[in-house]
Amino acid sequence: MSSYIHDTISYLKQTSPAQDEFYQAAEEVLSSLKPLLDRNPKYQKHNIIQRVVEPERQVMFRVAWIDDRGNVQVNKGYRIQFNSALGPYKGGLRFHPNVTAGTIKFLGFEQIFKNSLTGLAIGGAKGGANFDPKGKSDNEIMRFCQSFMTELFRHVGDTIDVPAGDIGVGGREIGYLYGQYKRLTGKYEGVLTGKGLNWGGSLARTEATGYGAVYFAQNMLAERGDSMEGKICTVSGSGNVSIYTVEKLYQVGAKPVTVSDSNGMIYDKDGIDLNLLKQVKEVERARLTRYAEQRPSAVYTPVENYPTGRNSVWSVPCQAAFPSATQNEVSEEDARELLKNGCVCISEGANMPSTQAAIDTFLASGIAYGPAKAANAGGVATSQLEMSQNASMSQWTFEEVDAKLKRIMENIYRTASATAREFGAPGNLVLGANIAGFRKVADAMIDQGVV
Ligand code: NAP
Repeated sequence: MSSYIHDTISYLKQTSPAQDEFYQAAEEVLSSLKPLLDRNPKYQKHNIIQRVVEPERQVMFRVAWIDDRGNVQVNKGYRIQFNSALGPYKGGLRFHPNVTAGTIKFLGFEQIFKNSLTGLAIGGAKGGANFDPKGKSDNEIMRFCQSFMTELFRHVGDTIDVPAGDIGVGGREIGYLYGQYKRLTGKYEGVLTGKGLNWGGSLARTEATGYGAVYFAQNMLAERGDSMEGKICTVSGSGNVSIYTVEKLYQVGAKPVTVSDSNGMIYDKDGIDLNLLKQVKEVERARLTRYAEQRPSAVYTPVENYPTGRNSVWSVPCQAAFPSATQNEVSEEDARELLKNGCVCISEGANMPSTQAAIDTFLASGIAYGPAKAANAGGVATSQLEMSQNASMSQWTFEEVDAKLKRIMENIYRTASATAREFGAPGNLVLGANIAGFRKVADAMIDQGVV
């Protein structure tokens, strides 16, 4: 390991203890930068590495609310404003019981380079709470969101910081958060993205991350003279990203055969029934066992039956895989199994879904591997398109937004691919995406002085 990586990670471990996911994300980015730093001493002269791993600001706050039985509940809320060199802070909010300061920090760090790669003027941020929306009534969700925004509102604004959704935060939560922001500030402005279509939302935002991950896979395969058509695909998760990955896979002539949630996975050899999936997840907010009950061709495997250290989704033979649930859901053993079964393409809808050992396995194999910060950037890119529409008080058609999304994904692919070639590692999109994302942010930081 180069000394600058070792020194930086040691410093982070000392100053920000117990944030393993953040060290993992930082090490992945820093390891890619060596060829750039060797060629351009200016980044070291301006101490960019030490500055870029340090968030500009982070707030942690108490979120107290009252449940339906009248009991007072308390959660931890977070917003990390990591880097604003390229534009106002932008990044989602995650509500999940496992959320810690380290989770939000890794996600915020990744967001800096992802947002840079989109080519749009957005800085990097992330936020959330260790709140579990599962099993809560609509009224409980509303009271929680109102309490969360009662602190968050003083840190955000349409040209300051514009949060969006992430795990556990969808259209319903964005609605309650927006309502409270408006009540507290009296302002009807584009402070959140992922809004409802009749109150400032953008067409195609809901679909954007999943669609974008498939567009990215198409770009990777096209350069190899291959296509998505006819490919059997595995998808993990069954939330926003997964559902619209499945939808787009059908549109491009591929066949998705799996989805999962935190309790288990479905293998449906006839192809996932998209309408049933939407009914179960978007309307009933139920578990995947409900899907299995209604679909004779579906086989359900609970997580208790997954082999140790493995995710059974990745044991289903496929030619393309779309990890779309959560971090570290693809282990080295899973990666080996995917390759053994003939998988030629990975496009990451989730953030940091592959462990470092899994990434190394994919890269060594030479298959098409689309890392998260490139492959899932369609969501934040379309959020920026929502901001543009809000600022100009206009609304574009679904086709206009989708066409822009498609172009953005193609540009991200070209940028990552060209940068990988420029630094002597053709096909290594991890290196290409990290260098291209970092270089733009670092140059802007140098231009803007020591702040
Ligand atoms: P979501 O709608 O809340 O869905 C999350 C899905 O992942 C659910 O099926 C959930 O199952 C599953 N999941 C969550 N934690 C899990 C765990 N620890 N183990 C197994 N399964 C788990 O969230 P989403 O918006 O689709 O986000 C999915 C991923 O995409 C995240 O990594 C997120 O950061 C990333 N991402 C999202 C966007 C976006 O626009 N939404 C953009 C870029 C990246 P349960 O229902 O059982 O919890």
